Amino acid sequence: MIEVRDVTKIHQSGETEVRALQGVSCRFPGQTFSFILGPSGSGKSTLLYLMGALDAPSTGEIFVQNRSLSTLNQTERDTYRREKVGFVFQSFNLLKNLNALENVLAPYLPQGVTAEQKQRAEALLKQVGLGQRITHRPNQLSGGEQQRVAIARALLKRPLLILADEPTGELDTKTGAEIFSCLRDMSEQYQTTVVIVTHDERYIRETDYIIRLRDGKIAEENATD
Ligand code: ATP
Ligand code: MG
Repeated sequence: MIEVRDVTKIHQSGETEVRALQGVSCRFPGQTFSFILGPSGSGKSTLLYLMGALDAPSTGEIFVQNRSLSTLNQTERDTYRREKVGFVFQSFNLLKNLNALENVLAPYLPQGVTAEQKQRAEALLKQVGLGQRITHRPNQLSGGEQQRVAIARALLKRPLLILADEPTGELDTKTGAEIFSCLRDMSEQYQTTVVIVTHDERYIRETDYIIRLRDGKIAEENATD
């Protein structure tokens, strides 16, 4: 469903060039739960951001449902990012003045929220285990609970793809395990493709597919069963 074909990415910072990705090719079939692993600086976040069209490759192409992201015009790109991809970040990125329900609805607040969206947001918060927390603000929620709000927010748009960059990076081991299984459950329930960048190798066996990057190249690529 998402295919990365011979992608390179050169980051330019001042005089220096950093070759963050050097000829990466991989495929994440639809409705799978996958990990991108690798040491710090190996290009994991860079690859994830390219798949989310937050940035463009220097060379090579990324196909989502057989359409190359490089052929999208500006409007189509915005639509892809806004409607097709749910992002989950290490630091949750919740708005601190909004409660859990409002945070889930935040992407739609400017246009006005429909009754259906509000109902779905409440249902999603229940599904991620926050039925009793919907009027809590981020500072009244634990890290794991905040990350669940972010997961519900990502799911509200019924995304094709959820991209998560170190979603358990700020959580303790037990809470991290709960967040992985929450993402896994939601991906099955909503038949969403999930790609997670992580350092945490303990859950490898529960994934469908892993790729491991080293120095901007694929060092290992496996289906885990
Ligand atoms: P980490 O595990 O520490 O998050 P990562 O595998 O996600 O690392 P990337 O963030 O993808 O690594 O970075 C890959 C390389 O590209 C690194 O050498 C990094 O310094 C460089 N890099 C990333 N983003 C930029 C940028 N915007 N400008 C310049 N260099 C960058
Ligand atoms: Mg990173």
